[in-house]
Amino acid sequence: MKRSGVIAQTIILAVVGVLLPLSATIYAAWTLSAKTEEDRLMDIAHQAVTRTERSILNAAGVLRGIDGNSSFTACSDAHIAEMRRLTVNSRGVKEIGYLDDGVLKCTSWGLVTKRIEKLKADFTIGDDIEAWVSVPPLFSGADPMTVVQVGKHNALIDPIRPIDLLADAHIRIAIIAPNGAQAANLNGMASADTERLARKGSSGLENDHVYAIASEAGWTAIAVNQQDELLEHFQGQLLVFLPFGAFAALFIVVLVVRMSRKRLSPLSELQIAVRNREFIVHYQPIVELATGHCVGAEALVRWKRPDGSLVRPDLFIPLAEQSGLIQPITDQVIDAVVKDLNELLVQHRALHVAINFCAEDIRTGRILETVEKRISRTGIENRQIWMEATERGLLDITEASKTIAEARTRGHKVAIDDFGTGYSSLQYLQSLPLDALKIDKSFIDTINKQTATSSVVSYIIDMAKALKLSVVAEGVETKEQADYLIEHGVEFAQGWYYSKPMPADLFIAYVHSDLQRQASKIVPLRRAHRGRR
Ligand code: C2E
Ligand code: CA
Ligand code: CA
Repeated sequence: MKRSGVIAQTIILAVVGVLLPLSATIYAAWTLSAKTEEDRLMDIAHQAVTRTERSILNAAGVLRGIDGNSSFTACSDAHIAEMRRLTVNSRGVKEIGYLDDGVLKCTSWGLVTKRIEKLKADFTIGDDIEAWVSVPPLFSGADPMTVVQVGKHNALIDPIRPIDLLADAHIRIAIIAPNGAQAANLNGMASADTERLARKGSSGLENDHVYAIASEAGWTAIAVNQQDELLEHFQGQLLVFLPFGAFAALFIVVLVVRMSRKRLSPLSELQIAVRNREFIVHYQPIVELATGHCVGAEALVRWKRPDGSLVRPDLFIPLAEQSGLIQPITDQVIDAVVKDLNELLVQHRALHVAINFCAEDIRTGRILETVEKRISRTGIENRQIWMEATERGLLDITEASKTIAEARTRGHKVAIDDFGTGYSSLQYLQSLPLDALKIDKSFIDTINKQTATSSVVSYIIDMAKALKLSVVAEGVETKEQADYLIEHGVEFAQGWYYSKPMPADLFIAYVHSDLQRQASKIVPLRRAHRGRR
């Protein structure tokens, strides 16, 4: 993934990482407050319904007692006094009356003769209790009452009484009798609300209020409160929860940032590049100094970023060597060489490709098997693959010797790279079975310059000759340098004077035009021969 992609992903993850715990916090605080409020209202509704039912049963019990007591003469002073005593002593009972044949004969307050048209009971409880709800009282002009009748006695019950202490003035409570009629209404609940909510059951939030509904023995109580109180509770809860949410958000953001910093670290980028096979190879011609003709090329790796830019090897090879990623990179280089130059190398057997191998490859010799495997069945010959190893790569001299010897047995040529920049150069040169030596550019730069090291080049050349090593001069940039090297009998050179490293297709074109140049020089020669004959 591109750097910008990782950054974009980090930002998105960080935003989600902040929003998620914060919204979870808000959600938790809200649901908890709503649940607490619903539970509170549910408790009130339960109590309301239980108390209402109990008040009816209590009144029925009182009526049953007096109705079954035959010691009173109907509407005698003693009877009326007893009814009064019971009224006063029974909570919620406002009045007890005695009826005979549809006529109210007396009540707890005295004698009356009022014909009462007896309507069918709204509902009955058990065998003997009849009940009516929302009955306007005959005399007091008070709120509608619940009437309970057992035998010839009835009682007016204030339906508000059992519930009025349950809740403060904000909470509205409605009681619905078993016949579905509203029996009580505390704090002014609209009957439309009552009917709608009664159909819902349980508890919940609706518009601007919270409600809870409880039912028992056919009775239903609905308790409703404004959401204002819920909001207050919610704000309180939020203060408790928010620090946790903020902490979680911070934790996630830190985690995300750390993860992406890791992903953006040079090593992770390199790992990703290896996984995505982002390495390509450019080829720098190696020429025969005497003729200027191309004899091969050095394969130089480049990291092609997804945006198309090329990264120079000296920017990532050291990290790749440290981290062990150099081995898969070398493998990708070998793959590229085979893919790019297979045809060219098969067509032109005199051409070779020099590949740079790292210390670990030389130490273990693993690379020989890798090369073998990749070039088998391609037609490329082992002698067309040259191996370059720096002095650093040859530090473990015993193992390096084994690998180099084995490489040469297989037909490869082995060159020591950057010669002169390492240390103990002579010792290596003598003890390793090498084919060629590449003089580092820093020495070539001193040619024809009067510097302290300018004479080193000729020493290196002489030494190479004494050891019967081929010499490749690296970094040749001028004609003077080339002339000097020719004069000193150096065989090969590589450098911008001839060509910069280039992509495979350009290198192939370079080789073809070079071959044409060679041919055009050869033809006149042949013609000259023919001419002589
Ligand atoms: P090197 O093996 O010494 O490769 C020669 C370097 O010198 C190349 O740089 C090449 O582009 C540069 N060069 C050639 N001629 C001239 C010239 O006339 N003037 C100047 N100024 N420079 C010239 P490059 O391609 O940047 O490679 C740098 C180093 O990276 C290589 O040095 C080599 O040590 C390493 N490298 C490159 N490819 C590979 C590879 O596939 N595997 C390994 N292990 N290392 C590699
Ligand atoms: Ca090299
Ligand atoms: Ca070199």
